[in-house]
Amino acid sequence: MPNAGPSSPPAGGEGAGGHLSDTRGRSVSYLRLSVTDRCNLRCLYCDSRMRQWLKHDEVLRYEEFLDLMGLGVRLGIGKVRLTGGEPFARKGFMEFLEAARERFPTLDLRLTSNATLIAPFATRLAAAGVARINISLDTLNPATFARVTGQDLYAEVRRGIDACLAAGIRVKLNAVAMRGVNDGELAGFLGLARELPIDVRFIEYMPMGGSEWKPEQVWRATDILAEAKTLAGLTPVTRGGGDSGPAQMFAIEGGAGRFGLITPLSNHFCGSCNRLRITSGGVLRTCLFSDRVYRLRGALRHPKLGLGHVERILRLASQVKPLGFELLAARRAGQGVCGTAMSAIGG
Ligand code: SAM
Repeated sequence: MPNAGPSSPPAGGEGAGGHLSDTRGRSVSYLRLSVTDRCNLRCLYCDSRMRQWLKHDEVLRYEEFLDLMGLGVRLGIGKVRLTGGEPFARKGFMEFLEAARERFPTLDLRLTSNATLIAPFATRLAAAGVARINISLDTLNPATFARVTGQDLYAEVRRGIDACLAAGIRVKLNAVAMRGVNDGELAGFLGLARELPIDVRFIEYMPMGGSEWKPEQVWRATDILAEAKTLAGLTPVTRGGGDSGPAQMFAIEGGAGRFGLITPLSNHFCGSCNRLRITSGGVLRTCLFSDRVYRLRGALRHPKLGLGHVERILRLASQVKPLGFELLAARRAGQGVCGTAMSAIGG
């Protein structure tokens, strides 16, 4: 793994016990688990197309993910998002999710997916208590979809969205905002959110490792919002209100759904960041913009270390969780925001 940091806990005292928190007073209550680094799409903003996949035994087993979730819950994690790669591209994912629900009945369990493989599972997802799902869809044009993702699967995504809505799952659509790719599609996306009860959110395109990011592709959030206001009546929804997360959300006049912007670069939300990420290879990341990683897999599988040692790492790593915007400010012009592809981190 490039830019790998230390694999042992940082220097400092043992955590005080209780729930996870950092020295800045942020509590850590949200865990993102990437269950696979593999994906059936090859999105130009996400995947290097030349990445080496993890070997079978390097990927955490579902049972190990369940153990990590159990540890997280004990340490105050209340929300877990399952992501990838594409989670449904891993065999047995649906059964894993159902096992997670059975073991953690009150956990807020969420999912991020490209929705290409989801339609047959929508009712089971709803039955397993997945009330909300984030679906990545950057375009409403099948030809553009094929160009962005390398696959002609637009119709499958639309089927997946419809199946989730029919099953009563709340859908948030995330579109990476890209000049020259989807900057002519604002009216279409607003129309979709008018017609269907979904939140359409545009995410700033970030120069992650492996992406084909170019400065001229940046479609700034301020420009998106200015244009959106010419196309629809938008009323701001109080930040943090409802289930908006870090997105800046707007009600759409006459709309069943809402419109939003996620701006990790231009208007960061580091001050309220409560996330940890664990990748499919068992690597802990405490900040999307930091290349510092903590390897959990070895400890997890070690007969003498196990979950007790993983807990120590989680506590100590959480304490020194960075402020991503400080890391970004320190980067040289032209450097990416992170050295690793999003497909390996999970978003
Ligand atoms: N396969 C799933 C999916 O497509 O939603 C989950 C993994 S994907 C890596 C998670 C999210 O990361 C997606 O919403 C994707 O749009 C976003 N993403 C990936 N690369 C990005 C980049 N360079 N800038 C902004 N968002 C990115």
